[in-house]
Amino acid sequence: PYVVAQPCVDVKDKACVDECPVDCIYEGDRSLYINPNECVDCGACEPVCPTEAIFYEDDLPEEWAWYKDAAANFFAEV
Ligand code: SF4
Repeated sequence: PYVVAQPCVDVKDKACVDECPVDCIYEGDRSLYINPNECVDCGACEPVCPTEAIFYEDDLPEEWAWYKDAAANFFAEV
């Protein structure tokens, strides 16, 4: 799946939400989260993010790799 990383924090522009064909991008307190169980890897969200916060999971910068786990945890709690 694709993953929302640090640049989204306290921004939550939501341009990605309008692009996602399966509506799998959800809003948390300080960031948006992509549900890894629903994302179909279409990539539509990545280029529209004004803060370039979205990465394919294998392309996450190393310092933001943990955002993949953050997303998994977010959806594990709901
Ligand atoms: Fe939605 Fe496609 Fe982005 Fe996955 S890659 S979150 S399906 S827009």
